Amino acid sequence: MAAAAASGEASSVPGSPVCLLVLGMAGSGKTALVQRLTAHLHGKGCPPYVINLDPAVRELPFPANIDIRDTVKYKEVMKQYGLGPNGGIVTSLNLFATRFDQVMKFIEKRQAASQYVLIDTPGQIEVFTWSASGTIITEALASSFPSVVVYVMDTSRSTNPVTFMSNMLYACSILYKTKLPFIVAMNKTDIIDHSFAVEWMQDFEAFQDALNQEATYVSNLTRSMSLVLDEFYNSLKVVGVSAVQGTGLDEFFEHVSKAVDEYEREYRPEYERLRKKLGRVRSQQQQEQLERLQHDMSPAAGESHPPRSGSSVESLLGPSALILTRGALGEEEQEGDQDSDTDDINHQVTEESHEGPAFQNFLQEARRRYPARSSQ
Ligand code: GDP
Ligand code: MG
Repeated sequence: MAAAAASGEASSVPGSPVCLLVLGMAGSGKTALVQRLTAHLHGKGCPPYVINLDPAVRELPFPANIDIRDTVKYKEVMKQYGLGPNGGIVTSLNLFATRFDQVMKFIEKRQAASQYVLIDTPGQIEVFTWSASGTIITEALASSFPSVVVYVMDTSRSTNPVTFMSNMLYACSILYKTKLPFIVAMNKTDIIDHSFAVEWMQDFEAFQDALNQEATYVSNLTRSMSLVLDEFYNSLKVVGVSAVQGTGLDEFFEHVSKAVDEYEREYRPEYERLRKKLGRVRSQQQQEQLERLQHDMSPAAGESHPPRSGSSVESLLGPSALILTRGALGEEEQEGDQDSDTDDINHQVTEESHEGPAFQNFLQEARRRYPARSSQ
């Protein structure tokens, strides 16, 4: 299995792609890692299905099958909702999340062709981890496919013990929030080896020694927190990688393989149990999440113009008319075609290739669904 894992081949149920949800602080190297993993998997003849959820990225260094920017223009969202850049990004992801059921269908269609689904997330981590849309997307994925959180950390910026601790606390909070198997990818090991961090995690005394150099209130707090984090460290899968140089990937995929086993052993039965026992409650919860999302968007809408009339656009919006994919025209033929490579990804969008009108429809529909609070 290790050999299969090292080559990037999934060891889970055949035909069930593994979703790798890549999270991390801005600048930690999420996008660079997704790029590297994409190239690595293509090189192994195992092309992933790649989804970009960052509406504000300027240039994507990898070919995405689904790119949020094709569906939602965040600058347009800023204008229409009267928002700044951060609000524009959050609202764009919210808008996209309301259509995530379509993304799920695209992933299902690609089951036979892609063993991995790589998901890049917005630069600012909280846009995903502290929003209703992030929860909706994570739960949708995790309830259907083996899903693993890859927490990317900038090793070179975590050499200060207090900074390291903050980063770990954040990782810990995400673990408890998502309740999914979790891998910490200590990135940028071409700048500094991650062994210092591993030592801090394994040897409490070593971390205390590092902290002794800092005599601040924060370091006292950190000392107490590090005791709390001890258990978290014990169960953590940590791997040093360099997205730039491509090192550490074999070990990375070994961890992914273990995380998938963990998902099958611990998480899937729990999801199935919940689905059976709490089916109705779950769907009620999902409804509540969507309502929260609506609530999130209302104040934004309230600051701008009243919703446009012309809800006849609804008639234009078929169930799959919004999320744009790449290479979808060839998707049927590509199913089962394990050897397709980057060049196969058709950069032409599909039958819904009227990107402008499609986006306008999307926006109008969203404004109709989530009217300004003042107009309620
Ligand atoms: P994101 O905001 O998490 O998506 O981060 P990016 O992938 O955009 O990377 C942020 C910066 O870190 C860019 O300048 C990258 O070139 C750089 N970077 C990413 N990964 C590595 C790495 O492994 N080594 C080095 N030296 N730089 C990296
Ligand atoms: Mg990025």
